[in-house]
Amino acid sequence: MSRKPIIVGNWKMNKLQKDAVEFMQGVEAHLTGDEAADFGIAAPFTCLNACVANAKHLIVAAENCNAKDSGAYTGEVSVPMLEEIGITYCIIGHSERRTYYAETNEACAAKAKRLFASNIVPILCIGETEAQYDAGETAAVLKEELKGSLEGLSADEVSRMVIAYEPIWAIGTGKSADQTIAQDCCALVRKTVEELYDADTAAKVRIQYGGSVKPTNIKEYMACADIDGALIGGASLKVDSFLEIIDAVR
Ligand code: PEP
Repeated sequence: MSRKPIIVGNWKMNKLQKDAVEFMQGVEAHLTGDEAADFGIAAPFTCLNACVANAKHLIVAAENCNAKDSGAYTGEVSVPMLEEIGITYCIIGHSERRTYYAETNEACAAKAKRLFASNIVPILCIGETEAQYDAGETAAVLKEELKGSLEGLSADEVSRMVIAYEPIWAIGTGKSADQTIAQDCCALVRKTVEELYDADTAAKVRIQYGGSVKPTNIKEYMACADIDGALIGGASLKVDSFLEIIDAVR
């Protein structure tokens, strides 16, 4: 089963529109329509329109969405709003949203279902804390997050989604997971998808590693059998480092 690799930058709460345009133009200048991998960025809501306007080959993803279509949810952005401006991917369940905004597995499942209804691909983030890792609870945490966040999704939907394994202790810390840990955990994610669905779905779902990925370590992860790409925070903020990552993936 050959899965197309997918590399997505996550800008988080960074960049004004002018910075976003500069980044898009800087990266697009080096991309062709014939890349063997998907490359994209997830941007804050205020930058999405500018990113879409300047995207030729890059995927433009949102960093969050609300599962409801409309209503009295001050400050929220719905999936139809993302669809209207041409968004094709959306991160859900990032650890920062789980930690600071109490995003639950149940909320992730509702968001994923709504995203698929609009043909937007969810990038579901899961991962354990350092304390859970130290206590040997990683497998249990990943299984529980997957079971809850995939609830109600069909095998066809899951086969089209992206799952990002992001150990929380590796996000923004510079302490990236070593190759074996990243591969073993991504293999566990795939095995769990097989248990919850079937072998075909598990063979199709694209699994990313995320956590202090940079130009100097991306190749190690891309060499792993169960890692199909990366979700990248800090190293996606500058054109140069994102281009170095793209070149390494090529
Ligand atoms: C992330 O924000 O999902 C992430 C992996 O960040 P960083 O690459 O900076 O660790």
